[in-house]
Amino acid sequence: MAYIALDKNHFFNNLDIITKLTKTKDKTALVLKDNAYGHGLLQIARMAKEYGITKAVVRTFEEAKQIESFFEYILVLADFAQESNEKIRYTINDLQAILKFAKNTKVQLKVDTGMCRNGILMDELEEAFVLCAKQGLKLEAVFTHHSCADEENEYFDLQNKNFQQVKKEAKVLAKKYDFAPLEFHSCNSAALFRTNDFDEDMARVGIAAYGCLELPNALHVKGLHVNELAPVLSVYAKKISSRKLQKGDCVGYGAAFEAKASCSVTNYDFGYGDGFLRSCSHNFITPEGIKIAGRISMDNSSFLTDKEELLIFNDAREVAKYAGTISYEILTSLKAHLRRTI
Ligand SMILES: *Cc1c(COP(=O)(O)O)cnc(C)c1O
Repeated sequence: MAYIALDKNHFFNNLDIITKLTKTKDKTALVLKDNAYGHGLLQIARMAKEYGITKAVVRTFEEAKQIESFFEYILVLADFAQESNEKIRYTINDLQAILKFAKNTKVQLKVDTGMCRNGILMDELEEAFVLCAKQGLKLEAVFTHHSCADEENEYFDLQNKNFQQVKKEAKVLAKKYDFAPLEFHSCNSAALFRTNDFDEDMARVGIAAYGCLELPNALHVKGLHVNELAPVLSVYAKKISSRKLQKGDCVGYGAAFEAKASCSVTNYDFGYGDGFLRSCSHNFITPEGIKIAGRISMDNSSFLTDKEELLIFNDAREVAKYAGTISYEILTSLKAHLRRTI
């Protein structure tokens, strides 16, 4: 079967670089949503614990429960509390949500500083504090999320400016409603790598830990080593069968590849049903320079080689270029049924 190989040295190298920026391991909150960006939730959780990461960020309560034993602190981004405990805290994404959490639940308030997606509005801040107090919730942090941390435009600075204002007001409200001391966080990977002297309580780091952060050169801060991050995940596929092609033979659905001369072709056990985006058909080339032949099918893809085992890719950013997408989608498309080895 096709399988995923995870490089622990690369993962630890990335965590070293990230932790230099956050200054302590306890301020590096590793984002593990969507099966740890396709890498495998438990495999990544285990390695992160070994490295000394204590905080995790996930999407759902189910994910949090699965990794509960690996971390001391788990932030759930978009789910309601089915259970309140010491480790798990929940995100409040709008005012109505506050009423859906039981007394004493640990919560964090997400504030919309300009992304217009989730979070309470800036002018709802006091109302949110009032409701949290009334509901008896344990409000422990206020945070925001950037829409353009990896792009060159004015939004990053604008949202930072807004968040500074939110912090100022929240500190006053925290005293008034007895939630002090509050914590604050706003950085995803790109924001952390373009921030000069990080001074918040934690950073929520996903793609940089997996080694696939892309940041325009103009946004690189001197001394911050974006280019030293190394991709953690590679995909290998196994040969199902090989054959020799004669000039004019056509391979796969739609007879989309036609041999210009005699050559070898091998069919491998990795297709779109496994997460190999079909938009990579026709032009894809492996890191070893081996060309794909025609269309990717559900359980198969054909390449012009006769190797027993083929490295399909070792850098999701390269695959993303063929598919016209971003590394995040390439990684999270990889199905959970694929075996993960470390
Ligand atoms: C996914 C996510 C992150 C991580 O983003 P990266 O770009 O992968 O570092 C951080 N914060 C929130 C709210 C997210 O949803």
